Amino acid sequence: MAEPLKVNKKNRKLAVDAKMADLCFTCGTCAGGCPVTGVDGYDPRKAIRMAALGLEDELINSRWPWICTLCGRCENQCPMGINLMKTFRKARGLRDRDKVPGPIHKGTMMNLQRGNNLGIPRDDFLMLLGDLGQELAAEGLPGFYVPVDKKGANIIVTVNSKEPFGEPDDMKFWWKIFYAAHEDWTVSSTNWEGVNWGLFSGDDPAWKEQVGRVLENARRLECKTLLLPE
Ligand code: SF4
Ligand code: SF4
Repeated sequence: MAEPLKVNKKNRKLAVDAKMADLCFTCGTCAGGCPVTGVDGYDPRKAIRMAALGLEDELINSRWPWICTLCGRCENQCPMGINLMKTFRKARGLRDRDKVPGPIHKGTMMNLQRGNNLGIPRDDFLMLLGDLGQELAAEGLPGFYVPVDKKGANIIVTVNSKEPFGEPDDMKFWWKIFYAAHEDWTVSSTNWEGVNWGLFSGDDPAWKEQVGRVLENARRLECKTLLLPE
């Protein structure tokens, strides 16, 4: 005969809150406010009950933690203060890395090696910034250029690597605002990635490393304000 499920078992993989099973009274507030309830049958109330009742491996190996957007609304609204979002993110982190869906694990590794999720070389990035700056100057912003590694600038801005990779004109929107506002800004020539896939893949060390690099750029260049358009 199968063993009965044990609730509140210690040493659980997902034990963000060991009393979760007792605390949750299945009110459904989390599911009611969740923007993705119903997608592929997803239901945060069911997902958190799985974690509480010991069905951790089933949850970790399901699509559900990856359907969750990690917006945190459920956690904010839960009347019992249960850490739903943190539990679902932790479930992501416990998935075998070669089974993380999509490109986010590969991109995280690429970022750690080369400073951005798509591995764009520094020289290519700088050449692109130079070309785009000249284009903008010719398009009605006289004197415009992209100030790279400018020490003491007010703002240091990060970049989403998909822009230099495939949608370079999207960077110009911010630059036009800076130009119109006479803002003192800069972008780092290295480790400029603003999209932290370690956050979304549940990889805490990679998440922390990337945050540290962005902060280090701001410190090295003595900038006052960090702007992450993502
Ligand atoms: S909102 Fe909280 S108490 Fe209500 S079902 Fe969701 S996790 Fe349980
Ligand atoms: S954190 Fe996830 S489960 Fe909670 S409301 Fe947002 S999408 Fe839904």
